[in-house]
Amino acid sequence: MSQRRAVLKTIALRKVYRTGSLDVPALQGIDMEIKAGEFVSIMGPSGCGKTTLLQILGGLSAPTSGQVFIDGVDLASVSDAVRTRMRCLKIGFVFQRFNLLSTLTVQANIEIARQIYGGEPVTRDEVGDLLEIVHLRHKLDYKPLELSVGEQQRVAIARALVNKPAMILADEPTGNLDSRNSEQVLRLLSDLNREKQQTIVMITHNPEAAEMGNRVIEMLDGQIRSHGTVAELVEEPERARSQAR
Ligand code: ADP
Ligand code: MG
Repeated sequence: MSQRRAVLKTIALRKVYRTGSLDVPALQGIDMEIKAGEFVSIMGPSGCGKTTLLQILGGLSAPTSGQVFIDGVDLASVSDAVRTRMRCLKIGFVFQRFNLLSTLTVQANIEIARQIYGGEPVTRDEVGDLLEIVHLRHKLDYKPLELSVGEQQRVAIARALVNKPAMILADEPTGNLDSRNSEQVLRLLSDLNREKQQTIVMITHNPEAAEMGNRVIEMLDGQIRSHGTVAELVEEPERARSQAR
């Protein structure tokens, strides 16, 4: 694992939201590294800074201080135009609320993720192949609201893959799904990681979902509280109790 290249690295990342006279310190010094092929789960209580971190990792928002390197490139060192291009080419986003455009067909929703940075148009066959991965080739001409929520999230995953991203960033991708659909979406992400070595960073509240990954980063109050496996997170309170005896 250690010889693998780092797809993503942060150094002393801080984010302060300034809202009127109030400063909200959302991230307070995050140092982390994600290697190619990893599936990392980020856990932590609501408000601890998980979404803020993911948005900064994906270049959707800028840190107050500190650095983000994507494939070795410091996001702050490039122009807005290059950063936007990097975001489109290197990162596939999957959101809790899917963020599909409801007036467009499934095919158009996927095409647009390529058009947005001016890349070669995606052919109908390519869209079909992407939908095959998420078992929805037959829904090419449907609109999002004609699909179940689980299917909508699977379309969003296909869309995230359209530019062959170096990594997928998913913010509570199963947060709006029932257990059966959650399971399907998690299995898809897990298959992508195992079979296609797709690098994935996923925020989740659910320890069972986190277990799909190879590693868990636990956050608390804008900081990383621990790195480890899900088993260690579950065992830790037990260990602390037995040491106290
Ligand atoms: P999480 O995803 O872990 O629930 P967030 O990253 O959304 O946490 O939020 C971290 C902290 O930053 C919270 O206190 C939240 O209220 C605050 N916050 C998030 N976004 C904004 C914003 N756009 N403006 C002001 N405060 C924000
Ligand atoms: Mg969040």
